[in-house]
Amino acid sequence: MKNTGYVDLHTHTTASDGTLSPKELVELAKRCGLSGIAITDHDTIDGLEEGLATGKRTGIEVMTGVEISAEPEKGTLHILGYGIDHKNPKLNKVLGDLIKSRNNRNERIITKLKEQGIDINIGEVESVAGGEVIGRPHFAKIMINKGYARNTKEVFDVYLGRGGKCYLDKERLTLQKSVELIKESGGVPVLAHPSTLGIKDESELRKALKKMRDIGIEGIEAYYSEHSTKQTSFLLAAAEDMGMLITGGSDFHGENKPNTALGTGKKGLKIPYKCFQDLKNRLTNQRQG
Ligand code: AMP
Ligand code: ZN
Ligand code: FE
Ligand code: FE
Repeated sequence: MKNTGYVDLHTHTTASDGTLSPKELVELAKRCGLSGIAITDHDTIDGLEEGLATGKRTGIEVMTGVEISAEPEKGTLHILGYGIDHKNPKLNKVLGDLIKSRNNRNERIITKLKEQGIDINIGEVESVAGGEVIGRPHFAKIMINKGYARNTKEVFDVYLGRGGKCYLDKERLTLQKSVELIKESGGVPVLAHPSTLGIKDESELRKALKKMRDIGIEGIEAYYSEHSTKQTSFLLAAAEDMGMLITGGSDFHGENKPNTALGTGKKGLKIPYKCFQDLKNRLTNQRQG
């Protein structure tokens, strides 16, 4: 397929909770005609080396990335870090600690599930996960396979979601710490899917975005699979007004989110190459400055 001039800056691989390996993801991006992608696994940079190498081999631009789950005031707060140096020691240390803390939580989730008569062992979860970041979607898969629930919604509503019988939150960095970590690793911090902040009122949302900008967030993920046209227009305008970068991505997870396609998301998502270029320019300026 010919180069479409579009990109996808929010994707997950088997390193976290996606179902394609980094190599398969980049090859798919190439087949889809994307001009560039960023790999943004949750709390890990493990897939980046393989993704970058595949990019070089297939001739598609791959940008390093990570998606950090930060402490929200309410709702969900995810921070994307673009262009990070994935060899940075502090980044590796902090992400490693988050994974250790996740593993501890996973053991505790297993105990809680056992109390509900659900028998799952850590080996099963690890083998479904494939990578080192193991989380609730992997538990969900096994619970469905073993007949403990009919679908993911049931797993989260009854057991693993907020308010569920076996819910346990994970350790998170504060927004400030997430921003600092990304910057210290040479990256650009961007607010992921602002729609999940749980702020409906536009003037409230604007205030929250401004506050994040003042903390060091440099861009807004305006194009996103779950955003309505109205939300996207609002976020594009807000980013422009506040002098912030505009980014976009599908949040592709392979079969773990079957209705979200790479590049195009749910309904004809189109993310212009300019988003990728602007990030590259920012990274270059940052390195020079
Ligand atoms: P974890 O990192 O283990 O806390 O798991 C977070 C992931 O679980 C998210 O990235 C979502 O993919 C998934 N998730 C969280 N809440 C729900 C939900 N209510 N329904 C389906 N998936 C969910
Ligand atoms: Zn995910
Ligand atoms: Fe996210
Ligand atoms: Fe994501």
